[in-house]
Amino acid sequence: MPELPEVETTVRDLRKKLVGLRFKDVWTDPAKPTHIGRGASWPLIKKVIKNKKILDVKRRAKFIIIDIEGKYSIFIHQKISGHLLYGTWNMEHGIWKANKSGPLKSERENGYIRTIWKLSNGYQLAFSDLRRFGKVVLVKDDNLSELPEIKKLGPEPLEIKFEKFKELFKSAGWQKRGRIKQVLMDPFFIAGIGNIYSDEILWDSGFHPLSRTENLSDGDLKKIYNATVRILKKAIKLGGSSVEDYRMSSGEKGEYQNQTKAYQRDGERCARKDGGVIKRIKLGGRSAHFCSVHQKLK
Ligand SMILES: [Zn+2]
Repeated sequence: MPELPEVETTVRDLRKKLVGLRFKDVWTDPAKPTHIGRGASWPLIKKVIKNKKILDVKRRAKFIIIDIEGKYSIFIHQKISGHLLYGTWNMEHGIWKANKSGPLKSERENGYIRTIWKLSNGYQLAFSDLRRFGKVVLVKDDNLSELPEIKKLGPEPLEIKFEKFKELFKSAGWQKRGRIKQVLMDPFFIAGIGNIYSDEILWDSGFHPLSRTENLSDGDLKKIYNATVRILKKAIKLGGSSVEDYRMSSGEKGEYQNQTKAYQRDGERCARKDGGVIKRIKLGGRSAHFCSVHQKLK
């Protein structure tokens, strides 16, 4: 599933390409519409979007928000395999085919077009989603912060200073309890971090994923905070990780999957050359990857 760096890559790229353009029309797969209104009918959705200027493309946690003229926004949750693409497509025998050769056409992951928005410059914005869990919701601007997906989210890790990060774990008379990997992956605790980056942050900062948060000192939390900022920024710079379906809006893969030190590296020697081997354990229905030598259990 795309995490903060993947979604941020998409948002930064689409902001450059889309802001100032208008939506001319929108199509969604009639068999199973991606585009849902939560009370708004499809004709209303089409009507609301048509000829509206795109004012901004934003991110909150793993969600994308396209702000359009008027009182609505488009809220996109990509879920497991959904990703937004920018290019030109034509419908052939009921299937959208990319017009130009390149990754939009050749990469299988980009071929499951569920929604197409026609843009005023002749290009299209497309939502490809093999697994069909993704959703696109028309929502009134005034109701955005009240969406159940957004309402209780924790803070953005790249927007808080260490003092605030530390307060998430402990403040006067109170301590967060739990396994550090699960706590970092909890979107209501801190937003946007999933399986890939929690593994990488803990490898980088040197803590075993099963470490208990109540055993972490301020110094330990500082190491985790610094690693979080460093890893997320580096991953954004490299266009995120294309481990499975995620692609950049050009259809190309990100590059961070080539840089991971722990995630899905089980069996490999630790990149720190400390004699450790990356191990994999189950944790709350997910996998945790870690070095058996330098990542300490607290
Ligand atoms: Zn190691």
